[in-house]
Amino acid sequence: MRKPSWLLPSLDHVVPRALGGKTIWENLVCACVYCNARKGGRTPHQVGMHLLKPPIKPRRNPVINVRLESDKYATWKHFLDHAYWNVELK
Ligand SMILES: [Zn+2]
Repeated sequence: MRKPSWLLPSLDHVVPRALGGKTIWENLVCACVYCNARKGGRTPHQVGMHLLKPPIKPRRNPVINVRLESDKYATWKHFLDHAYWNVELK
């Protein structure tokens, strides 16, 4: 069953770009579209949200090797298509 579009994953800047937040590993988290929109251009603290984990830069190369046509990764495909490849992480 397909998830509603507002439950699909997205990348969110913890400190919004409009507030000087950079597109770096330590400032990006995965969030569903609903939470991303709810937070908007504010910090989590400003909207009473909290991070499950602080974002960190991975030690290993994050390139993944999965079969994206598999049903198991159906939601990943959307994420990789729309978010991952459009963001240059430093
Ligand atoms: Zn959410």
